[in-house]
Amino acid sequence: MTQVFNFSAGPAVLPKEVLQQAAAEMLDWHGSGMSVMEMSHRGPEFISIYKQAEADLRELLAVPANYEILFMQGGGLGMNAFIPLNLLGRVQGRVHEPATIDFVHTGSWSGKSLKEAARYANVNVAASSQAEGFTYVPPQDAWKLTQDAAYLHVCTNETIDGVEYNFVPTPPEGVPLVADMSSHILSRTIDVSKYGVIFAGAQKNIGPAGLTLVIVRDDLLEHALPICPSAFHWKNVAGHESMFNTPPTYGIYIAGLVFAHLKRQGGVAAIEQRNIQKARLLYEALDADDFYRNRVDPSCRSRMNIPFYLRDESLNEQFLAGAKARGLLQLKGHKSVGGMRASIYNAMPIEGVQALVDYLNEFAGR
Ligand SMILES: *Cc1c(COP(=O)(O)O)cnc(C)c1O
Repeated sequence: MTQVFNFSAGPAVLPKEVLQQAAAEMLDWHGSGMSVMEMSHRGPEFISIYKQAEADLRELLAVPANYEILFMQGGGLGMNAFIPLNLLGRVQGRVHEPATIDFVHTGSWSGKSLKEAARYANVNVAASSQAEGFTYVPPQDAWKLTQDAAYLHVCTNETIDGVEYNFVPTPPEGVPLVADMSSHILSRTIDVSKYGVIFAGAQKNIGPAGLTLVIVRDDLLEHALPICPSAFHWKNVAGHESMFNTPPTYGIYIAGLVFAHLKRQGGVAAIEQRNIQKARLLYEALDADDFYRNRVDPSCRSRMNIPFYLRDESLNEQFLAGAKARGLLQLKGHKSVGGMRASIYNAMPIEGVQALVDYLNEFAGR
């Protein structure tokens, strides 16, 4: 098999060692005679896998003891509904006025989130960079926040637009901060205690699609609306150690292998340094002259998802074909914005970024 580098935005590249271990254990996990896929989620074998994954993630992100880690389903888009259903009870009595949720609109994903939330509450767009084509994060002193909002929702890395927060927002006193970290969780150190809820679809930096991670502060488990589905009621899920219904067991297993692999590499602080290096390498090549162009303000360029355009877009197909011939895969940009996009998650080795940079230089005739 030829060596390829996969720049897909998600589902995305996983560490090779993890896939090799999963392959070796596929038919017989640790002498159990069973594949992880065949195990009862309530049996001792799977419980040990789950507990280790939970403990390793807690260690990697330094998740405080008063936060629950939930391994759920439903994806990032599901959470756009499950979050209002779980949190709007916090302002109950006012929900039929209706309650207000604050959003900062920095790209496609926060846009999808606010559209979904508008089905359940009044949405206030506290700030937006839409008029400038989602090329920056509006500074917080320009946000028009609601003092008694049910919560403040931000997307800290916009996967399609390539915009990443370089600060932690401060909501008004008592208003929980909710963050969609789907595409950059575990890529950089974070202070979990600043957030009420962190959520992430697994298919970017964690593992296979189908697993959705929620990290939620204990006091926010109590505020679900009565209509919240039981299987997505955080208190239920937390009370049953993510096994109120059958969790995505194989996804949890792979995520656990990814967490263990990350620990062996020195943890999140160490991978963050490598991510900074990888992103710098790629942006330098894109910025070298005007053959390529990334439109995002340098202060909030994503380290994970790097959209770019060829100056002469009639060369797009030629560029992609040449990339593919070199084993540089899935570089086509999201259909909503066009152009190209290189996603360089934790599992993308620096050799992959270097190979892309070499190709960018060659294609530009440098
Ligand atoms: C990929 C992604 C999602 C994904 O949602 P799914 O429902 O799992 O497809 C949500 N938010 C962000 C920021 C993402 O990058």
